[in-house]
Amino acid sequence: MSSTFFSITNKYQAFKTFILFFLLGTVSFLSNVEKSFAEPLRVHFIDIGQGDSALIQSPNDKVILIDSGPSKSWKALKGYLDQLNIKEIDLMINTHPHSDHIGNASRILEHFKVKMVLDSGFAHPIRAYSQLLASVKEKKIPLKLGRKGRTIAIGGGANLELLAPEEPFIKNSRSDPNSNSIVFRLSYKNQAALFTGDAEEETETRLLVDSKKLRADLLKVAHHGSKHASGRAFLDAVKPKYAVVSCSETNRYGHPAPETLLALNRVQAQAMVTAQVGSIVASTDGETWQFTTQRKPSPSATINPLKKAQQISSTNTPNTIQNASAQGKVNVNTASLNELKTLPRIGPALSKRIIEARKDSKFTQASDLRRVRGIGAKTVEKLAPLITF
Ligand SMILES: [Zn+2]
Repeated sequence: MSSTFFSITNKYQAFKTFILFFLLGTVSFLSNVEKSFAEPLRVHFIDIGQGDSALIQSPNDKVILIDSGPSKSWKALKGYLDQLNIKEIDLMINTHPHSDHIGNASRILEHFKVKMVLDSGFAHPIRAYSQLLASVKEKKIPLKLGRKGRTIAIGGGANLELLAPEEPFIKNSRSDPNSNSIVFRLSYKNQAALFTGDAEEETETRLLVDSKKLRADLLKVAHHGSKHASGRAFLDAVKPKYAVVSCSETNRYGHPAPETLLALNRVQAQAMVTAQVGSIVASTDGETWQFTTQRKPSPSATINPLKKAQQISSTNTPNTIQNASAQGKVNVNTASLNELKTLPRIGPALSKRIIEARKDSKFTQASDLRRVRGIGAKTVEKLAPLITF
């Protein structure tokens, strides 16, 4: 988990980087080629109530945390990261300095080994932000500014391309910290996910200048699904198949806005709301996305702003969405071939062998997987926090 795996570049350094990769990249590419093609990329949208927190696990296990939710969600966030056995965070991205996004940032720096911090650099006078900057300084963590044009290689062929903010910052908008959120596109082979922070209409107008870069099957919907983002032109450019809204069941802002849910429905995006389904895990092999959710939407949910979300998701539920037993874990006794394939180090052949082996007797603990030919102690160790029985 060395931070040297990260390469932060911008347009002006492209040639230098190309030479560097040419010199350094050849050996590692050849030795990792089989591994990186077999292992998926995973995005966890963590249910932290009203706010945002997501975690990316790259195909070669680099860990990127995007926002850390409001401070009162600390127990839920820490619990989720512990369940995944996360000890180090290779990169922490703070999309913008609002307390529902950076509420736990300095606590994360206390409890985890964070190797790099990416910040919007838009100054906003709240305590959580000054605490964060003080901790970064005290711990001497490299702090980079997230600026349009930068690309961050996160390993295994996955990349983050930063699309916003750019200077001069957007001024005099409804919320300037929101408008200058870090926006980036995560890409892996033929798939991409777009992370929009709390972008506003003005941000979307700027992003549409490079509209081809917005296309992504998976969209983290801006600003908890508020009506101040997700405009028609923007959604037409993204054309998401899946859309994740992160918010709490009862919030004073009325998130997600019915208008936004209808707009997502218009572009035929499947909307998933953390308030309804809990944490959401999206995995991709670079070709398709698979989803597991903490719970199924309750048919009796009647909370007003969620009513339309529920109607939308019940009419459009794709069969790829499975109800996982807990925190998006894969049940190795019942998972389908495709679900098993989302696990690290488990390709189609091993998935078939797991299904064969469980016919003899059910697995009751991680080490039982050693019965499967080709699964050794190291793989068991990797799988243990991600599976259930
Ligand atoms: Zn927010």
